[in-house]
Amino acid sequence: MEQFILHYIILFIKGYENMKILVINAGSSSLKYQLFDMDNESIIAKGTCERIGIDGHLKHTPANGKPVFNEDIPMPTHAEAITAVLDKLVSAEYGVISSMSEIDAVGHRVLHGGQKFSASVKVDETVIAAIEECIPLGPLHNPANLMGIRACEKAMPGVPQVAVFDTAFHQTMPASSYMYAVPYEFYEKYGVRRYGFHGTSHRYVSAKALEVMGIPAEGSKIITCHLGNGSSLAAVKDGKCFDTSMGLTPLEGVPMGTRCGSVDPAVVEFIANHENMTVTETLTMLNKKSGMLGISGVSSDFRDIDAAIEAGNERAKLALDMFNYGVTKYIGAYTAAMGGVDGIVFTAGVGENGPNVREAVCDNLAYMGVKLDKEANNCRGKLQKISAEDSTVQVWVIPTNEELVIARDTQDICGK
Ligand code: AMP
Repeated sequence: MEQFILHYIILFIKGYENMKILVINAGSSSLKYQLFDMDNESIIAKGTCERIGIDGHLKHTPANGKPVFNEDIPMPTHAEAITAVLDKLVSAEYGVISSMSEIDAVGHRVLHGGQKFSASVKVDETVIAAIEECIPLGPLHNPANLMGIRACEKAMPGVPQVAVFDTAFHQTMPASSYMYAVPYEFYEKYGVRRYGFHGTSHRYVSAKALEVMGIPAEGSKIITCHLGNGSSLAAVKDGKCFDTSMGLTPLEGVPMGTRCGSVDPAVVEFIANHENMTVTETLTMLNKKSGMLGISGVSSDFRDIDAAIEAGNERAKLALDMFNYGVTKYIGAYTAAMGGVDGIVFTAGVGENGPNVREAVCDNLAYMGVKLDKEANNCRGKLQKISAEDSTVQVWVIPTNEELVIARDTQDICGK
């Protein structure tokens, strides 16, 4: 408690603007981090711990010209991983801060907040218990996210932590968007419904779209396409999520790198029976061996798919056609659902770097007045309007920045 009070006194003296915030994205055997100087929202160091629980490897990249550290370090648990990161952040050779007390707060990406969290929150024991309760909804990620929180608590006692949920932005969906037409009791008993993911990204790029388009949230209709290894779309009406393509889990929606996207649920039993597989094994196959990889037989990576198409691979072409068709269908559906659309946003790995995907999708939308500026569309990884002046709908590439949103939320919640 004393440490906690002391921390806030230091925060008060240092002031809101000078906060340094560590952003953590903990996976089951990995942990990615970025240390932000919120004075100018710059990244002063970033890195990844891998093979946690197996052996352990840390790649730490300082932004101040000091050398990159890229070596094996034993990491039996996430606690050792966090300790290794903090060690490097303050070390004479690789460090970017003089002492750990310079870290004012930690922001964590948390996958599943269920129906409990519609915004980011400061972590306390009640919040931890609620994240634990959501484990059945996010069995792979939530335990890892909790390990990250616990490890930081241990290594940095008293430093405030904030949880930022992938599901939170989608909590504004109306029931007609989020309910599945299965017996109502399964919603009541187990919370079986659409939750949606990539919420931090959809929130950031939809808000940015309103800013660059110069229109108010009230009355606006934006469709955000987060297209990466995992892909999801969101219909954002009046600045709030109205519908999204991922569901109870990230398996639903458009075909993805290795996920099948939406299929007839009867496919599960059909394949399980024919292949003598359990339901769990079948779902693992639908999560890890399907999508671009499963159709093309080449790769889950869109760059490999592009190369295979160049070399005349028909299945790679089919995979990409299915992806573009899936994205087109959702945009059409969300335009109808919102009664129109003002702006379409492409973001994430493929959305930001794949002019071919953007062109194919926008050409499919010509019927509704979408017209691409092909020269402007030939861009990668930068904020760019790519629709022609006479397009009835504006189309933008907006690079996402989930880590920055986590850092900003953490600052807003922990700053004075
Ligand atoms: P993400 O999950 O957002 O990191 O996106 C990963 C996906 O983006 C991978 O399938 C990559 O192939 C794709 N991607 C990244 N860079 C490019 C690029 N320059 N051109 C096409 N696809 C890219």
